[in-house]
Amino acid sequence: MKKHLKNKIFHIIKDIAETENLQVFVIGGYVRDLIMKRPSKDIDLVVVGNGILLAKKVAEQLKGKPKVTIFKKFGTAMFKYKDFEYEFVGARKESYSSNSRKPAVEKGTIKDDQNRRDLTINALAISLNPKNFGELIDPFGGVQDIENKVIRTPLDPNITFSDDPLRMMRAIRFACQLNFEIFPLTLKAIQQNKERINIISQERITDELNKIILSKKPSKGFKILDKTELLEIIFPELTNLKGVETIDGMSHKDNFLHTLQVLDNISKHTNNLWLRWAAIFHDIAKPATKRFSKHGWTFHSHEFVGKKMIPKIFKKMRLPMNEKMIYVQKLVLLHLRPIALVKTEVTDSAVRRLLFEAGNDTEDLMTLAKADITSKNERKVKQFLINLENVREKLKDVEEKDKIRNWQPPITGEIIMKTFNLKPSKEIGNIKDAIREAILDGIIQNNYDEAYSFMIKEGKKRGYRI
Ligand code: ATP
Repeated sequence: MKKHLKNKIFHIIKDIAETENLQVFVIGGYVRDLIMKRPSKDIDLVVVGNGILLAKKVAEQLKGKPKVTIFKKFGTAMFKYKDFEYEFVGARKESYSSNSRKPAVEKGTIKDDQNRRDLTINALAISLNPKNFGELIDPFGGVQDIENKVIRTPLDPNITFSDDPLRMMRAIRFACQLNFEIFPLTLKAIQQNKERINIISQERITDELNKIILSKKPSKGFKILDKTELLEIIFPELTNLKGVETIDGMSHKDNFLHTLQVLDNISKHTNNLWLRWAAIFHDIAKPATKRFSKHGWTFHSHEFVGKKMIPKIFKKMRLPMNEKMIYVQKLVLLHLRPIALVKTEVTDSAVRRLLFEAGNDTEDLMTLAKADITSKNERKVKQFLINLENVREKLKDVEEKDKIRNWQPPITGEIIMKTFNLKPSKEIGNIKDAIREAILDGIIQNNYDEAYSFMIKEGKKRGYRI
């Protein structure tokens, strides 16, 4: 591996390690990514000895002397230098008791430190010591596992997962991100230890879930979460979508598999985490709204009910209850609208209404609507896609003409009150709504003069004098 350690800092560390009589190793994700030829910005260094002392000495020798941040409690130190973040930690040996995630930590050897790692591919180390600088230390066959694309724990998976159950999420996240398969015994151990996930903080679970969602093909991670029955614990609203019911020979689709397909589809077109979450949530209320009538299955108002379900799930998942959530809610509420448009004749007023409601998120809504087309019937898919393209064109035309997106009605409540000498009341809102509706319906143009004349007529109709 010597030739791969081009970074000058590794040589500086080697020299200091020699004079200070320390053993130092690069370990974990950086080594894994070096072997896999993936870019990596975090460099973790394990020191048999004092990691904080070494970090300080290294930083002193670097140009600009980067500021070292010390976490005394954990015995770690880090600094940023050029594009990289370096973290120095003393080699540790951990032992866990059965009812706590907090291990008893003592100083250990490099082998002890590798033993406490989550996966074989994350337990690889490279020596920075003078006598074997650049030597790869791979006690668990991590390189072989990278070649075979296998996710496996260094020790008995029941011990590794029970000690720190977050590792189950990490195993699945890496399988999804790297497109690896989880070793059968490792997979079985996840299922056996699934209940232990309850001792992990929601924030850490959601972090891993977000990384799965941001992968190239997120469905892979969700399918493993489902197979190991972790999904039912961490996101029961999603597993509720599973299954197909048939009455009188009429079946509906499996909304769980459909949702995963929509998520994969949308992931080809966007890296926006929140748009991907919108895909996950778009049909979340289908179980709650499912009905059977003689014409077949319906899910009336699932978009409204779905929008309403979101805050509770966001809160539970510790997802941000801010404008990101409002954005996801808006897309869920509107997700059927573009497709509904293609099913009827596309009138200007329907397009204006959609632009008015979706505003700046119109493109994202179209991306979601396109991802939502998952029929097995290829001809149908093709036709829907063509129709959706027509809607896109129409949206562009109407927007250019009418500038409805992010539109503020040209007549304010102030103007209405002044014109008719009225006090604030519900009537002001009614007149404002009438003007907005007239513009959206195309009865008048979206400009001040036409809106003003309309307001005068509307006010007079209601018995007000100028
Ligand atoms: P990424 O940066 O994509 O998250 P990474 O492997 O660098 O990948 P980090 O979370 O930064 O992930 O962790 C760095 C290293 O620390 C890992 O490679 C692994 O060796 C170890 N590690 C992290 N979390 C755990 C854990 N819960 N249990 C055991 N080892 C862990």
